[in-house]
Amino acid sequence: MRKRILILTLAAAGLVAATCYAVQQQQPKEIPGMTASPDNPVWKWVQHERNRPQPQVIQPGKPSDEDHVGQPPSDAIALFDGKDLSNWESIKGGEAGWKVVDGCMEVAKGTGDIRSKQGFGDCQLHLEFREPTPPVGMDQSRGNSGVFLQGLYEVQVLDCYGNKTYPDGQTAAVYGQYPPLVNACLPPGQWQTYDIIFHRPRFEKNGNLVRPARITVLQNGVLVQDDVVLTGPTGHHIRPPYTAGPDKLPLALQDHGAPVRYRNIWMRELPEN
Ligand code: MG
Repeated sequence: MRKRILILTLAAAGLVAATCYAVQQQQPKEIPGMTASPDNPVWKWVQHERNRPQPQVIQPGKPSDEDHVGQPPSDAIALFDGKDLSNWESIKGGEAGWKVVDGCMEVAKGTGDIRSKQGFGDCQLHLEFREPTPPVGMDQSRGNSGVFLQGLYEVQVLDCYGNKTYPDGQTAAVYGQYPPLVNACLPPGQWQTYDIIFHRPRFEKNGNLVRPARITVLQNGVLVQDDVVLTGPTGHHIRPPYTAGPDKLPLALQDHGAPVRYRNIWMRELPEN
């Protein structure tokens, strides 16, 4: 009988200990940059809560290879399907003047930058670009183009395969602000990828900046910008200040005179908070 009581007591103690441990697990401690709040998902949901909304099921995309163009994930917005520029317009207004060649869009020198008809806020962008071969020019004039998030923040497109320029202006630089962590360029003529995560700046109603923009970039699958904080819009020998604008703005691609090609451009809009 005594033995049985002892076993029951030990079992009860174990249960209490396990419950305390579980409760401890459910209550995260505040750490710098992470404050307890009902809006923070770490505090909003009990750990391992089964009634928490399930993530949406999507079909992942297919990567491209040299011969086959990949496919966007099922929840992405395809901005260029290889056929026409119907999702684009000139930033001067009117139709986009770039060419569609071999299932790609190609910069037509002098026609100007183009922008998506749709605007985007926080987003995940995938695109592929190909530098002209044989390469022409050097430094900033070799295969220059650019990807402008919200039309304001440029991730540089340039042929930096054996081509030296100033680091904060080379391929995958946040132009004039951050050199890439490494030079991950492939030779001209080969398709390269950018995968970009962008968080737009936040402004108060009176126009004051609350949160600056942030960018993460992978070039050819290699991390080249790690959640960098932008000083404002990018520029050449200028650091323009932030100015409040719409939450969603078009993506722009730069005509810098070189016949750079693009394909498989898609966007996923990210939940904003
Ligand atoms: Mg550029």
